[in-house]
Amino acid sequence: MTPAAAQALSQPKIPAHPEIRYSACAVIYFAMHLACLSILWVGVTWRGAAILAASYFVRVFFMGIGQHRYFSHRSYKTSRPVQFLLAVFSMFGMQRGVLWWAQIHRHHHQHSDGPEDLHSPGVHGFFYSHCLWFLNEENRRTDYSRIPDLARYPELVWLDGGMTSTIPGILYGVLMIALFGWDGLIWGFFAATIVLWHVVHCVGTISHRYGGYRRFETKDSSRNHWFFALITLGEFHNNHHHAPTAARQGYVWWEFDLVYLVMKLMNWVGVIWDLKIQQRC
Ligand SMILES: [Zn+2]
Ligand SMILES: [Zn+2]
Repeated sequence: MTPAAAQALSQPKIPAHPEIRYSACAVIYFAMHLACLSILWVGVTWRGAAILAASYFVRVFFMGIGQHRYFSHRSYKTSRPVQFLLAVFSMFGMQRGVLWWAQIHRHHHQHSDGPEDLHSPGVHGFFYSHCLWFLNEENRRTDYSRIPDLARYPELVWLDGGMTSTIPGILYGVLMIALFGWDGLIWGFFAATIVLWHVVHCVGTISHRYGGYRRFETKDSSRNHWFFALITLGEFHNNHHHAPTAARQGYVWWEFDLVYLVMKLMNWVGVIWDLKIQQRC
């Protein structure tokens, strides 16, 4: 065997990512990034940074408690009106409808880091897995067969529709402008949304390939990153892949899981119930 052939064999084999047929939403995705340049116009201020932080953390909280732990994993039960509100508030994060997100995410847990995983950095490479896969028209269809428990609610199916799925995001943008004017639009909507998107996608890419620590030897490459958990208010990704339906993702005192603490409070006041509790290790 030649040295070149031996070197090729020693390289990790990463198949080329699928050919991309960009959806029209790709224009919005790139335009949102460009719109952040308007920060140069309003200037960097403490007020702007505070609006960004508040807008980011409120939305990442609802994505964690709603889109991820409720709709994707059914970690607890709640009433139908609260379920609808959770869907709307989750969609303030502007990652399409909760049904689309949930069915993609369940598929991810089923095929984590395998060839069928749509956003595994080990399979498709970092860049495609971080920010291209969801712009691919092929991946924008909602497969209702993966979410029969959610597809039986017509209000959720309606909210998941092509145009209606944009309503919560638009309402959120209008709210930011009404509350904070230009700073609300530029810091609270454009910049905070971009930060939110990239943090969520870092959990899907960095927390599936680089650094961190693995508490559990799961069949995938998931890992916990304390920093990402801190800024996502409790997403410890290796713990989560070990027990996907568990309400709690922090297993020891220093794995701080704020979303779970709020869930416990909501459970105590009776807004949600039947939390799926995983034993501490
Ligand atoms: Zn994952
Ligand atoms: Zn999950």
